Amino acid sequence: MSTNSARPPVPAQVDAVIVGAGFGGMYMLHRLRGLGLSAVVFDTATDVGGTWYWNRYPGARCDVESMQYSYSFSPEIQQEWRWPETFSAQPDILRYAGFVADKLDLRRDMWFETKVTEATFDPASHRWTVRTDRGDVVSARYCVMATGCLSAARLPDLPGIDDFQGATYHTGWWPHEGVDFTGKRVAVIGTGSSAIQSIPVIAAEAAEVTVFQRTPNFSIPSRNVPMTDEYEQSWKSVYPERRAAARMTRNGVLADPNDFSALSVSEEERQRIYEDRWRRGGTTFMAAFNDLIVDKAANDTAAAFVRSKIRDMVKDPRTAELLAPTSHPIGTKRICVDTAYFETYNRPNVTLVDIRPAGIERITPQGVLTGGVEYEADIIVFATGFDAMTGALTRIDIRGRDGVALADKWEAGPRTYLGLMSAGFPNLFMITGPGSPSVLSNMMVSIEQHVDWVAGCLAALGERQLDCIEATQAAEDDWVAHVNEVAHKTLYPQAASWYMGANVPGKPRVFMPYIGGVGAYRAICDEIAADGFRGFRLTAPAQAAVAAE
Ligand code: FAD
Ligand code: NAP
Repeated sequence: MSTNSARPPVPAQVDAVIVGAGFGGMYMLHRLRGLGLSAVVFDTATDVGGTWYWNRYPGARCDVESMQYSYSFSPEIQQEWRWPETFSAQPDILRYAGFVADKLDLRRDMWFETKVTEATFDPASHRWTVRTDRGDVVSARYCVMATGCLSAARLPDLPGIDDFQGATYHTGWWPHEGVDFTGKRVAVIGTGSSAIQSIPVIAAEAAEVTVFQRTPNFSIPSRNVPMTDEYEQSWKSVYPERRAAARMTRNGVLADPNDFSALSVSEEERQRIYEDRWRRGGTTFMAAFNDLIVDKAANDTAAAFVRSKIRDMVKDPRTAELLAPTSHPIGTKRICVDTAYFETYNRPNVTLVDIRPAGIERITPQGVLTGGVEYEADIIVFATGFDAMTGALTRIDIRGRDGVALADKWEAGPRTYLGLMSAGFPNLFMITGPGSPSVLSNMMVSIEQHVDWVAGCLAALGERQLDCIEATQAAEDDWVAHVNEVAHKTLYPQAASWYMGANVPGKPRVFMPYIGGVGAYRAICDEIAADGFRGFRLTAPAQAAVAAE
């Protein structure tokens, strides 16, 4: 492990290169070691944690409760670690990542401050050559891309962005030393999850906050509270059972879902159920009924309920109307979870600016120009999101068979088999890749499932003395069609969301994650593995394909 220029050399040959030292890469390294395989991990960060290393903005917090957003693979770790709050703040999640890295001695195989720039497959040797921005060249049998679905932060392409004379920050690249907002005029661009979490905290410190909103979002209060011993024990005493149950749910979260339609109950009963979910807080609001994401009329009832709550919370009727989302069904953009977000607009130092339809005209040396008005600011916070799901992968020059670049193959949208592999890219695995439930789920559950599947696959290859696995084109085509078909049975494609690639100008509009559900997806993956890795071509060193189409 190294974080400085005197770093030890990276081994020239390993069984596996893992890109990314977030929760995906950390667990992958642990599993590979358990198989007796050698591995190195690269990350551009200076330490482990991935998302929770980079997103240090004020208010950053988990929207899945921590008893569920944590590793389940080690009984010792899950019993020993203690979360201070029910929905953990970023510093605690980062401390947890460090705790796990210490416990498993992960850092000795990790090389930080090192960006993977290229990965090239050699069909003759069945090996990948991986290159980094520090001149490392590593030959690896397997390459595991644990690069994260929300790790490629992006600034909008706004004219004048470099002319601003104050300080600018992106929520996904937040400085380690923090930002002092005291007495400052702050412009926040964006109203997604990161903005919704950070605005209340910034507003409590800054002189003025001006929020530039293009699309209002639905948000549910988190109801975060300090962890009590009783609550912690109520989980820890039955952790194996709860974890097993979560793995078979739709979203990887135990949410106590109601299995009936919003339209099957009286108006009075519907309101009672929504009130109860609102009082409980968090994303499980969407589990109030079983058809909120497939039936527009059902969805409308939930959306209307949340809009009415917004109108109750925000005193100025015009601001309340601007904050009430109408452009997309609730839940079809990632639902936000907040702590006093809407109430923050009642503060005298907070102003909401609706930038529709023209958007931001330009960034000026003094601030933000929109609708012909210049809003002066000392600091601009870009809470403008990510090139989600594909960005971290396509920013690496990944070349598979015949020198084909992954970025070119995915020009019209990502194509994978199970979100785990892409045809033409043998021995290259993705952790929570497009085509898997990933971002629609509690990511810890999905990360563990993918890592376990990859580890099981490599163990099976070893047992059969094979050294190469590749998705077949036919299996990939069928899976992509299935992912699309399932998505289009829901309301999700109706929103211009980052799930659809709609937040990045020019990115193809394809619904990227698999919405069939975490439990159902796990069963598919397990069944395919049990059936000799159906849809994958497995080959031995220098031999023809031996199995499994
Ligand atoms: P990441 O944590 O993103 O780690 C990927 C790592 O790969 C990064 O450290 C990055 O630096 C590195 N990397 C990428 N490309 C390269 C390269 N070319 N060379 C070297 N290193 C590279 N999910 C939930 O389930 N619940 C939540 O509440 C939740 N909250 C979130 C809040 C925020 C602000 C964000 C952005 C995401 C949130 N997520 C949440 C999703 C979150 O990304 C996952 O839960 C999880 O942390 C992802 O882990 P990972 O290891 O797959 O990827
Ligand atoms: P995001 O959801 O993509 O939100 C980005 C915001 O910036 C949107 O409001 C977007 O408006 C706006 N924007 C982008 N480009 C713009 C431009 N050129 N001009 C004006 N506005 C612009 O990004 P995020 O908030 O960082 O969240 C990304 C994901 O990370 C979340 O959906 C979630 O999965 C995860 N996350 C989770 C939590 C949590 O609660 N645990 C917190 C943060 C993030 P449009 O909507 O109009 O595009």
